[in-house]
Amino acid sequence: MPVERSIEPWSALLDAGRVDGRLVREANEGAGRAARARLVQPPVELHPEVRQALARLGIERLYSHQAQALHSAWASTTIVTTGTASGKSLCFNLPTLDVLCRDSRARALYLYPTKALAQDQARALCSFGLERRVRPAIYDGDTPREARREIRRHANVVLTNPDMLHVGILPNHAAWADLFSNLAIVAIDEAHVYRGVFGSHVANVLRRLRRIAAAYGTEPRFVLTSATIANPVELAERLTGLEDVRLVDEDGSPAPRRRIAVWNPPLTDEALGARRSSLAEAAELLARLARESARTICFMKSRKGVEVLSRLVKQDLETDAPELAELVTPYRAGYTPQQRHELEQRLVRGELRTVITTDALELGIDIGELDAAVVVTFPGTVASLRQMWGRAGRRGRGLAVYVAGEDALDQFFCRHPEDFLDRPVEAAILDHESPLIYRAHLLCAAHEGPLSRADAEPLGPRWEAHAEVLQSAGQLRRREGAISASYVPRRPDRYPAGDVSLRSASPDSFAIVDVSSGELLGFTEAARAHSTVHEGAVYMHLGRSYEVRELDLERRRALVSPFDGDWYTQPKTQTDTEIVRLLDRRETLGVSLSFGEVSVTDRVLAYQRRRLSDHAQVDIVALDLPPTSFPTQALWFELPSADRMLGELAAPAGAETVAVSPALPVGTLPLDTLLGSLHATEHAQIAVLPLIAMCDRWDIGGLSTNFHPQTGAPTIFLYDGHPGGIGIARTAFARFEELCEDARRLIAECPCASGCPSCVQSPKCGNLNEPLHKAGARALLEQLLTGDAALTAAASC
Ligand SMILES: [Zn+2]
Ligand SMILES: [Zn+2]
Repeated sequence: MPVERSIEPWSALLDAGRVDGRLVREANEGAGRAARARLVQPPVELHPEVRQALARLGIERLYSHQAQALHSAWASTTIVTTGTASGKSLCFNLPTLDVLCRDSRARALYLYPTKALAQDQARALCSFGLERRVRPAIYDGDTPREARREIRRHANVVLTNPDMLHVGILPNHAAWADLFSNLAIVAIDEAHVYRGVFGSHVANVLRRLRRIAAAYGTEPRFVLTSATIANPVELAERLTGLEDVRLVDEDGSPAPRRRIAVWNPPLTDEALGARRSSLAEAAELLARLARESARTICFMKSRKGVEVLSRLVKQDLETDAPELAELVTPYRAGYTPQQRHELEQRLVRGELRTVITTDALELGIDIGELDAAVVVTFPGTVASLRQMWGRAGRRGRGLAVYVAGEDALDQFFCRHPEDFLDRPVEAAILDHESPLIYRAHLLCAAHEGPLSRADAEPLGPRWEAHAEVLQSAGQLRRREGAISASYVPRRPDRYPAGDVSLRSASPDSFAIVDVSSGELLGFTEAARAHSTVHEGAVYMHLGRSYEVRELDLERRRALVSPFDGDWYTQPKTQTDTEIVRLLDRRETLGVSLSFGEVSVTDRVLAYQRRRLSDHAQVDIVALDLPPTSFPTQALWFELPSADRMLGELAAPAGAETVAVSPALPVGTLPLDTLLGSLHATEHAQIAVLPLIAMCDRWDIGGLSTNFHPQTGAPTIFLYDGHPGGIGIARTAFARFEELCEDARRLIAECPCASGCPSCVQSPKCGNLNEPLHKAGARALLEQLLTGDAALTAAASC
């Protein structure tokens, strides 16, 4: 056991960071909170065998939230959102063990987003030593065929994932009749993972699960756990379709004292906004922590990044401490279960000093106590950041570091860490009625049993309208009944679940095939195929890079091969949006803000190759691809007086005045200034939207135009990037004022001269970041927010 140190292993490191200004913010977490646990006796109502099992494990008292969760789960649907390492799994294990001890026929279903988590939990369940009562088994894609029948017959806790439930268990419910007839409890761990497209699918899978359970006469109790998010009760309701959800969020576990350090690599060119790379910075930090004997975990987004960073840290250590270099290892998805397990065990035993990983390790796997957690670049959500930081300080103290990248959200975070850490974190957004996703599952449900009036409860009141659409499409057949009609599949021999991937918004997809191995890597939505897997594209799949050799439009597949080059690609796209249906409108900040259905048409014209090291353009290659369209949801706002609002601005140096056609609003402004201002405003809004709705900027599309034929004015559109929409644009519509304020701050506070990757430039711009006018966007947003715009807008009528 390490001795208690009065000087922490990271003290010198932080001192150095303070001196040269790279340590931009520090905070202490846990100092003001209860350092001692709130403990209570296990409830007397808990089955005696479970209480004895707890005692055998040395658990004489429970954290208060664990007892509270037990009482809550007995009463109703429950979601638990206490901190990392607060013993959340006991919150669903206790009610499960209790019911299994009371009723020898009862069954439980545990859903995990990853296989590794399910393995971890199966081990935890076995540790209770209740072999006669509790028989857990993992049922996923790796389960050998010959073991499956035995699991269906014998296991009373089935641990699986939503994909397997969707494609393997529900369509074959007859084989699982015993499980469904006795299903008492469903546990959903890490529920915040189920958001966006994946969440919208899982919400439908869970409704199908409730529907099948009802057909077998059961109504299982749902218990969910989640990382801290802004809307846990809403998430549980949307996922399960159930009401009366109870929240358990008062953490009774002791708060570790954690030092939080926000680390910003130094600027190398202020005007261009260029910084030292976050990888180089992180490598230096990790090597220092290793030398100071701190056991550290480091999180990165890409697998490639994990490999590169591991190499850099090892190189650094090899010069003076080669024995330490041996203790540094990468850990990422793609390892076999055995390799993973071995690494986890070495971590637990303290045989490794530094582990560098993708988010494969983010989710609650038990890896023992660590001194420090280093997160390199913003992981996308504050909820994930907190969860990663939660790895540090399990001995009661720890260091949590965040190393910023150059991306807009990263730099915004560096300037406002309190804002991020104190304000209610993002809301998990999903929309189970997103039409394409909903109908795909409705068809699966029809194959699992005829759809009838009783389905309004699990599937929602509008199920029949969607069923009629499927009937017109020739997929369902209406059968008139004595009391009401029912719908059955037109082709009962088909297996529709096999065509629906829970990770993609539309069943219309392109296969991605690695020609070097012949392996099917996965699918990409057809709506995105032209822009992501065009010929020559460098394509990332699960953190690995591939180069597209051929996009076969006819056979709907992209042939790719592993890629090791030092460039990436960015498509140049021409986008049009057509307003199809207005759903909502409100006046705010002096503009008309609309929300509705749109049709987005993209045409990929060319792509640019850029060097990884400095983003410099290598070349630009033309493409000949037909346009593609997809329906989605958008918000848009018109700026009829944008011209006047920007009147004071000088044109950017070298910009030409473009002749404006008489059909367009006549302005005195160079077109580049107007367009550049709108375009930069759109980029800034897209960059900060993930602060409000838990999503990635790659989930959001945008279009700005000086004249939209349907609005007749300069207009900015922000739309859901997934066919049908998944609720992102709706959230942005509801919280537009915050969106404008965050975008304004993002631009106003960036020290660059005329736009950089940390403010208005976007890594996914279909126009290759042309034109962009930073000062114009700032002026537009300031006038919207100060109310001046209201006057000018009125004046322009
Ligand atoms: Zn900037
Ligand atoms: Zn753009």
